[in-house]
Amino acid sequence: MKNKKTAKIITGVLIFLAVCIIAGFVVGDIFGKKAEKSETFGIAMGTVVSTKLFSYGDASSQCNDINKLIGELENEISWREENSAVSLLNKNSSVACDEKLKDIFDKASEVSALSSGAFDITVGKLTTLWNIGEENARVPSDKEIKEALKYVDYSGVKTENGKISLKKGQFVDLGAVGKGLACDRVREYLKNTDVKGAVISVGGSVLLYGNAERKKPWTVAVRDPRGESGDYMGVLTLQECCISTSGDYERILEKDGKTYHHIIDPKTGYPSDSGLISVTVVSDSGFLSDALSTACFVLGEEEGKKLLEKYNAEGVFIKNDLSVSVTNGLSDKFSITSDKYTVSGE
Ligand code: ADP
Ligand code: MG
Repeated sequence: MKNKKTAKIITGVLIFLAVCIIAGFVVGDIFGKKAEKSETFGIAMGTVVSTKLFSYGDASSQCNDINKLIGELENEISWREENSAVSLLNKNSSVACDEKLKDIFDKASEVSALSSGAFDITVGKLTTLWNIGEENARVPSDKEIKEALKYVDYSGVKTENGKISLKKGQFVDLGAVGKGLACDRVREYLKNTDVKGAVISVGGSVLLYGNAERKKPWTVAVRDPRGESGDYMGVLTLQECCISTSGDYERILEKDGKTYHHIIDPKTGYPSDSGLISVTVVSDSGFLSDALSTACFVLGEEEGKKLLEKYNAEGVFIKNDLSVSVTNGLSDKFSITSDKYTVSGE
């Protein structure tokens, strides 16, 4: 357990480095005055949280606040936390909710409907059967998968009268949106501080914050899904936004010569096989960038792009032949930096 956790954390640090090698060196001359950088690393949501704040004074207490608020969010929404709202919901098929929690579930239902169920938070019965990335990961039998599939249906989730409820036996897993939600919560917090700019990465979800006093856009690396943990295959140049990546390399199980990854197609019960190996989504909302990257990964490029249009979001799609395609809004904001990859259709 310990070794796996450590390996995961090291991988997380390297992914973070892929994001920040580039974001880091532009710091000196981006603000009107020379900004100070405050930086921390924490562990939450099973990954590394890296917090980089730029301000005209020490912002280490704000770094600590951010780590604390992400921990609090995890305690509220992780099914792994025994007393979280989601654990109580899974246990009792019903839980009292405040407006914020209701909003998470309502937005999740909308993404489910618009993605024809490719994104579905009731996938928990399946994800806990496979347990990919955990010590007890295994390939379930077809029979077990069929049985679990009976409980995977987003329309069973209701938010009414101050309560969230599920159909009996359903199990909610917010793993596809937790890190993006953390980015949203951090941005809300930062708005009430003197922090002028920030790069927060929670595993594969990143918040770029602070346009007002920053002279240049941020530059962010997109991880090479077929490289080592620190390798990247392209760069995005972006203003304040959230970015999330879903990839088939993030958590895997190798068994009898086959590799299984952690994003499940709710229609089949097996790891999705849409021809994509990585999808990066850019959106104003962290929740949406995270939910949509998972949804697009399952849907595949064509349907994924249609879904992004509905949300005014942009994306980078990497296929298993290592060809890359981006949505129109990113055509002048993304460039490939690794010769392993080609532009799709060229
Ligand atoms: P990561 O969490 O590795 O950054 P994602 O955001 O794509 O990647 O989320 C994957 C996680 O979401 C899985 O570990 C699982 O908890 C959950 N999940 C898997 N498949 C789906 C799906 N089709 N819809 C919603 N959640 C999913
Ligand atoms: Mg996601």
